[in-house]
Amino acid sequence: MQEPGTGMKQLLDSTSLGEGPAYRGRFAPSPTGPLHFGSLLAALASYADARTHGGEWLVRIEDLDPPREQPGAAALILKTLEAYGFEWDGQVWYQSTRGEAYAAVLESLRTRGLVFPCGCTRAELQLAPQGAGGEHVYPGTCRKGVPAGRRRRAWRLGVGEAQVAFEDLLQGPQRQDLAREVGDFVLRRADGWFAYHLAVVVDDAAQGINTIVRGADLLPSTARQIYLQQVLALATPRYLHIPVATAANGEKLSKQTRAAALPLDDPLPSLKAAWAFLQQETPPPWLDTREFWPWAFAHWRRAAIPRALGIRVGEAGFASPPNAAACEAPVAAGGETV
Ligand SMILES: [Zn+2]
Repeated sequence: MQEPGTGMKQLLDSTSLGEGPAYRGRFAPSPTGPLHFGSLLAALASYADARTHGGEWLVRIEDLDPPREQPGAAALILKTLEAYGFEWDGQVWYQSTRGEAYAAVLESLRTRGLVFPCGCTRAELQLAPQGAGGEHVYPGTCRKGVPAGRRRRAWRLGVGEAQVAFEDLLQGPQRQDLAREVGDFVLRRADGWFAYHLAVVVDDAAQGINTIVRGADLLPSTARQIYLQQVLALATPRYLHIPVATAANGEKLSKQTRAAALPLDDPLPSLKAAWAFLQQETPPPWLDTREFWPWAFAHWRRAAIPRALGIRVGEAGFASPPNAAACEAPVAAGGETV
């Protein structure tokens, strides 16, 4: 294993909770809008799984992308979590305060010659062939230097011939050939903001997160994060990717699909709907909001979660979230921002 550089040592010393417990999980929403049914699934699953295993559960606001953020959304997310009975450990972390840590890690990679500047435009990258997962694979244009006359835009991590294999706690064995399915990927974007993969890896390590329960829409990006952990000589957490809720058209419920905000004044129907979506045991009818979590911690079963990447909201057997009709607007395909 490689020795972490000075930047990494500082990074690892900055954990707020000291030596790690057997289980430390987290929920890490982006403040691009209020919490909705889709984000409640990730919050509920990560919280119930952590507490059921005697673990800690942290909240981190991933306010890394100011152009996409909505003023007041972070405060509203925390207020909603409180109203829904979530109790997190330690201080809430904000990625907007972590720029120095990300810059130190990027600089350590630059010193080691593992990252390179890229001058390709978004339009050029859209012309690159797609890999098996449907992503445009970086063709390596700037790997040996930015072509003459081109401006340095983004910073990319070279992936060489790396293949990443891991066992997802729910979805089973996973494998990704980074060179053929992704290519060298962006750690610092052309607009100057740090990329999600860098921030999430640096912060999970700094916070001592060792179990990550999150939506399966992030499954294809996990190999990149594990590769970066390996390059930085960081431990790889356990991963469990739950199915995401999709609208009738198959798109993931998200802020971009204008999924309805969770109601602040009546949490129980949404909590029960999320619980039912994850195919957990039906709670007794007398359960009220205050009693929901103690009951949930006693009845959460990983093995009951459907082994699927996405489930349409309202399919047989699942309660519909409140205001499900508001979740039907289509969404443009996502993708890496460079
Ligand atoms: Zn390039």
